[in-house]
Amino acid sequence: MLDLKRQYESIKEEVNAAIERVLTTQHFICGPEVDGFERESAEYLGARASVGCASGTDALWLALQACGAEAGSSVITTPFSFFASVSSIVHCGAMPVLADIDPGTLNLDPAKVEKALKRARGQVRVVMPVHLYGQCADMDRLGKLALEHGVAMVEDAAQAFGAAWKGKKAGTLGKAAGFSFYPTKNLSAYGDGGCVATDDEEVADHVRRLRNHGSKRRYYHEEIGWNSRLDAMQAAILRVKLPHVDDWNQRRRIAACRYHGLLCGAGLVQAEAQTVNAKAPISLLVTLPDMHHIYHQFVVRAWRRDELRKFLTEQGIGSEIYYPVPLHLQECFAYLGYRAGDLPESERAAKEVLALPMFPELREDEQQRVTAAIAEFYSR
Ligand SMILES: *Cc1c(COP(=O)(O)O)cnc(C)c1O
Repeated sequence: MLDLKRQYESIKEEVNAAIERVLTTQHFICGPEVDGFERESAEYLGARASVGCASGTDALWLALQACGAEAGSSVITTPFSFFASVSSIVHCGAMPVLADIDPGTLNLDPAKVEKALKRARGQVRVVMPVHLYGQCADMDRLGKLALEHGVAMVEDAAQAFGAAWKGKKAGTLGKAAGFSFYPTKNLSAYGDGGCVATDDEEVADHVRRLRNHGSKRRYYHEEIGWNSRLDAMQAAILRVKLPHVDDWNQRRRIAACRYHGLLCGAGLVQAEAQTVNAKAPISLLVTLPDMHHIYHQFVVRAWRRDELRKFLTEQGIGSEIYYPVPLHLQECFAYLGYRAGDLPESERAAKEVLALPMFPELREDEQQRVTAAIAEFYSR
């Protein structure tokens, strides 16, 4: 599914030197490595500021808080995402409002967001699209809605470092954005890490304060924050990796292109089919024309998905389900009052999606093996 050792082999000397640099200085919390990474990542993204924090989950939490999500307000997001997209809203004290996804891209459906905005009349403070699998949600339509309704947009860009919408990088399309540097992400640390990107100096300052116990000056606290700093060791490693991320993303795009060719060539895919059945057992997701997709994951819909996955596992081929349970049906969110059937596209996706092996160093012969195994499964 993902072989991180191949990447480490290719940058081993640089990474080891960076770690040694931190050990020599014994400067572990904030300091020059974190400042350096914040400067360099902001420059890469084309954002005014990038503020390091302890994880992607915290980045979302802090960004939402700094953009006004609070008790008594609501935040609209998608139920078809990682848990933290919704838990970060709850941690701010705000109410998550879940809108269904577009069946082609599996990203937040602007028409459903519009309905939710109208229904929630004035309660909504933030709309938070998730750029799932490395593809942005429809940022033109969502941006327009946010503007019309006077709500802030915060991007969950955890899966989209280096993705772009009409040439503008994910993470610079709203008021603020949260990124994750969890080890499986496109730009990844050797542990937990994240950052908030923003063009708004006030938001950046607020996040800097929130991540440091709500304090600007040591032992003087204007508000109650958290301990959520990016540590210097992770920052030093991220500084080594940042200059490679475009190349790695490009290799993912090439691998995705190869999957397209291989799966279609094997007769597994029927053009335009958004349902899966015996004749068209694999369906490919839609990539929007304005999109620079960076394939954090390569995900298809698959007929008899769970049996296919079991077969692939038996063949020694990794695969994953992102995500098997839509968030409105998670036990801990039962209090939100959603029921099965309320968000049908998310529920259908949860039953059909399968992520195939995807990482920059994935080889063509490996992708041929994956495709051959899928073809074998459906020919039986
Ligand atoms: C990974 C991820 C997060 C959380 O990031 P962590 O660094 O693991 O806390 C949030 N949202 C999405 C969509 C993610 O994929």
